[in-house]
Amino acid sequence: MNNKTAHELHTLLTERKLSATELTEAAFARIEKVEDKVKAFVTLTKDEALKQARAADEQFKSGKNITPLTGIPIAVKDNMCTRGTLTTCSSKILANYLPPYDATVVTKLKAAGAVIIGKTNLDEFAMGSSTENSAFHPTRNPWDVKTVPGGSSGGSAAAVAASETILATGSDTGGSIRQPASFCGVVGLKPTYGRVSRYGLVAFASSLDQIGPLTKDVTDAAIMMNLLAGHDPKDSTSVDLPVPDYRQALVGDVKNVRIGVIKELMGAGIEPEVKDAIKAAVNKLAELGAKITEVSLPSFEYAVATYYLIAPAEASSNLARYDGVKFGLRTKGDKDLITMYSNTRQEGFGPEVKRRIMLGTYALSAGYYDAYYLKALKVRTVIKRDFEKAFKDCDVLLSPTAPTVAFKLGAKTADPLAMYLSDIATIPVNLAGLPALSLPCGFAGNLPIGLQVIGQAFKEDALFRVSFAYEQNTEWHKKTAAL
Ligand code: GLN
Repeated sequence: MNNKTAHELHTLLTERKLSATELTEAAFARIEKVEDKVKAFVTLTKDEALKQARAADEQFKSGKNITPLTGIPIAVKDNMCTRGTLTTCSSKILANYLPPYDATVVTKLKAAGAVIIGKTNLDEFAMGSSTENSAFHPTRNPWDVKTVPGGSSGGSAAAVAASETILATGSDTGGSIRQPASFCGVVGLKPTYGRVSRYGLVAFASSLDQIGPLTKDVTDAAIMMNLLAGHDPKDSTSVDLPVPDYRQALVGDVKNVRIGVIKELMGAGIEPEVKDAIKAAVNKLAELGAKITEVSLPSFEYAVATYYLIAPAEASSNLARYDGVKFGLRTKGDKDLITMYSNTRQEGFGPEVKRRIMLGTYALSAGYYDAYYLKALKVRTVIKRDFEKAFKDCDVLLSPTAPTVAFKLGAKTADPLAMYLSDIATIPVNLAGLPALSLPCGFAGNLPIGLQVIGQAFKEDALFRVSFAYEQNTEWHKKTAAL
């Protein structure tokens, strides 16, 4: 039953062929069996989960307040606040942090009756593309445990791929939902900026961060978005627009949908096997009735550089709050306040986080602000305009999600720039605030390849339509990691 999707399990639960308690116990049995190899979790919340499962079973008994997520096990990325449950961001500086409140997405999941089974590993403060920057331990890719699961939501993606959970949440600042989804052969959606509340998501780069689902198939992603999307007065950047029923977009055809293939993301730097899989996916969509064109977005070449000014600049400001006073770690026994601050930060942050803080502080400092940060903001506008131009003739755009399949652990840790380039296809989307979904579209050897479908702002339904039609006409999503 661990291999099933939420919508399949929902049927079994409502028909009372399965109880939420049995399902939750099965999730923990699976975790017991494979977690040593995968290491997707930072914290497991078995007692609490079983309590939630029993409450769900009561609901099924009474037939009241049943939602598509009632009784479904879900894992939450450990940068989303859970009241009374550790929320570490996989950082030593927050290793003991117990939030006094739930993130809005967690509140919604609990209210819908979902069963939270634990908190998943990430690159420290979501900075990274392999989950190797976790201060606790790296997570491994269930398809080949010698390779990385991607990052930063590597724990969530691996937990879904290993069938340790049915659903998971991720956050995406420059690709952190989609790239791990691609590496682990699951579905991952980064919603439009403002579509899902960021309240209670520990801030990395606030103008880019979005929360979204990681699931086994497109239908489950639509189901999760039906719940997660919507305005939240607690997040001033969340947008007050009606939330459509995303399942209505799951019609299974793409007739006359205009699809643009991004030229810049089908050239140099993209592994041949990845390119071939994307070309085959494009052919499949053409066969299904889509109208295919090639589009050029010339500013993409500057996207990674732009992102590595804007994201660290925002991070350097957001992370100033970890000073040993209000949250988490405090290094003891110091003579004055400044020494306490600096010792706490020295001890509490890992090397990648320190690198980002230094890059960001530099980009924002007097004399460099105009040359770097302000310039980056201008390029961000140019990238947005390139997208707007492309969307005049297209409903969605396609590209590989990542330039490669999962790489070996340690392969890129000594070369930050090589690691940063994992996100060349995903970063432009965050800079423009657009929604994009990654879904499985093939394999290189035993390792999954992801197809990225990019849409216009608040048109997640177009992504669901195209992805669902592709999924229903291919078999990739049915393959599971052998472990
Ligand atoms: N890999 C990118 C980074 O390191 C994106 C991370 C993310 O989306 N959180 O910043």
